[in-house]
Amino acid sequence: MEISAPAVEQAKAVVAAGLAPALKRSDAPSFGCFPVYSPYEIIRAAGLLPVGLMGAGASIDIVHADARFQSFVCSIAKTSLELGLQKRLVGMEGAVFHSICDVARNLASVFKRNFPGMHIEYIHLPQNAAGPEAEDYLVSEYRRVMAGLEARMGRRIDDAAVAAAIREYNRPRRLMRELYAMRAKEPERIGAAEMFPLVRAGTMLPPDEHARILQVAKEEFTARKPRRMDRVKVVVEGAFCEQPPIGLIETLEGAGCYVVDDDFCAGWRWFSTDVPEGPDPVRQLARAWLERGRATSTRFNPDKPRHKDLVRRVRESGAQAVLFMPAKFCEPALFDYVVFRRELEKENIPHLMVEFEEKMWTFERTRGEVETFVESLLFD
Ligand code: SF4
Repeated sequence: MEISAPAVEQAKAVVAAGLAPALKRSDAPSFGCFPVYSPYEIIRAAGLLPVGLMGAGASIDIVHADARFQSFVCSIAKTSLELGLQKRLVGMEGAVFHSICDVARNLASVFKRNFPGMHIEYIHLPQNAAGPEAEDYLVSEYRRVMAGLEARMGRRIDDAAVAAAIREYNRPRRLMRELYAMRAKEPERIGAAEMFPLVRAGTMLPPDEHARILQVAKEEFTARKPRRMDRVKVVVEGAFCEQPPIGLIETLEGAGCYVVDDDFCAGWRWFSTDVPEGPDPVRQLARAWLERGRATSTRFNPDKPRHKDLVRRVRESGAQAVLFMPAKFCEPALFDYVVFRRELEKENIPHLMVEFEEKMWTFERTRGEVETFVESLLFD
């Protein structure tokens, strides 16, 4: 077992501290970004610090939020609202939500009503990412959000500021891509329970601070001399919005899996390449969302079907199986399970469904299921 690298410990400390340190920063007020993807660069260019408004896991007891939702709603919506109702978002300038599902849509309105001092934005992302009008439409949507932020912050957001923010965010995203590629090639070098806090820390830090941690982690991982174990290489799919507890990821590894790819914190590492730094940076961002964005269950792109992309990622990473890991009550993920399962079976790729909740604290049943699955593949 590898000893956790100091950079990983640093990232874990950032994650454990939650949003409180970000809310107290004096250099830039924070602005919540509900998953999956937000145009972080535009928010940054407004002089704000984009942070993940991504629930609170087991760090909060739900006292008030249950009364605002039906019982069959995912945990991330409830704990995100609970943070606000317990005044643990004081100092957050506002938040952005987008059209990923009905829950996120309604949560934006609930936030607006309950926290009138916050600037709440709702982005209508294009329904069809391959449509001919999609690019112009998304540019106009981003410009509408910019106008709202300009009015709120009392400052103009010019192209130079957006271009600078693109440069800032390209760096940690590039490093995350490099770490993911390193892990896909040698999963014994980087544990999934190490990669997860490294990525998650980026939802709470300015991009340059995040990049520094990632750079150190990369050097530390490169220096390791790991030993390959007899494990099954898996791709984890379905955890793009609500995030699993780290104990669950440790359980997957303990049960005999090497995670070679996943969609944890998908929005924060959304692009397959750098966002180009050309003229008209807002258009560059919109184009990048359309052309270089991840295939996930929250967006429709007939040119890049999600089930085909999953199979591609399995093949490219050399995975032997897929762990389908949706959050409980996550409709986009659960609806897609039908399509994914059909495609995986057609391609003879073994798969297992492992449902989770961010507040989950006991993993014994999951460990048993994953161990049985792994053994069936290793000793088949
Ligand atoms: S976890 Fe799923 S259902 Fe809940 S807000 Fe996120 S995408 Fe929507």
